[in-house]
Amino acid sequence: MKVLVTAGPTYERIDPVRFIGNFSTGKMGFAIAEAFAELGHDVVLVCGPVQLKSDNPRIRRIDVESAEEMYNAVMAEFPSTDGAVLCAAVADFRPVNVADRKIKREGSGNLIIELEPTRDIAAAVGKVKRNDQFMVGFALETNDEEVHALDKMKRKNLDFIVMNSLRDKGAGFGYDTNKVTYLFADGRKMEGELKSKKEVGREIADLVTNLR
Ligand code: C5P
Repeated sequence: MKVLVTAGPTYERIDPVRFIGNFSTGKMGFAIAEAFAELGHDVVLVCGPVQLKSDNPRIRRIDVESAEEMYNAVMAEFPSTDGAVLCAAVADFRPVNVADRKIKREGSGNLIIELEPTRDIAAAVGKVKRNDQFMVGFALETNDEEVHALDKMKRKNLDFIVMNSLRDKGAGFGYDTNKVTYLFADGRKMEGELKSKKEVGREIADLVTNLR
């Protein structure tokens, strides 16, 4: 198979030195990319700004910065793949205007930055997805986890969604471990234990392989 994986955060520029980002490190997405590569599949890894390296020759890496760049890379690559695992923590909003000079403090008033929604990459991929392609998404939630995850799975046309909660210890940004629950489009639910992200990556690659 040829598999597309997205990983890491996106950075949305405010001015030449500042951005809006999030705490994603890319560890989960890299673990997924490596798991597929180790099973002998070719991987296109589209990643936002991360500190990680991967030297597996089966992984072709495309580095992007913003949600818009990630959208363009994913939409260009997806049609030639067997499917995608969208693991990136894409910014939902970006500044409407990017200042071309560093914004100065100037007095002591508040600074208001107007934000506009970015494009939902997963929803766009869900619209062009063919019947022979799979699509897996993530839902990182802080509350009403299952309700939100089920809604995302339907809205984005996913085969299954990997749900993790910031309420679980050892799960989420930066950790080497994760605790996930899988919700499938056919109604099945699989609850996992706290595991290394490497193990979760292998589990996801196996689940995708079993879908086909
Ligand atoms: O942000 P949200 O919780 O809706 O993300 C759920 C899924 O959608 C994740 O798989 C994430 O990678 C993807 N997503 C995306 N583009 C966005 C927002 C989210 O691909 N702009």
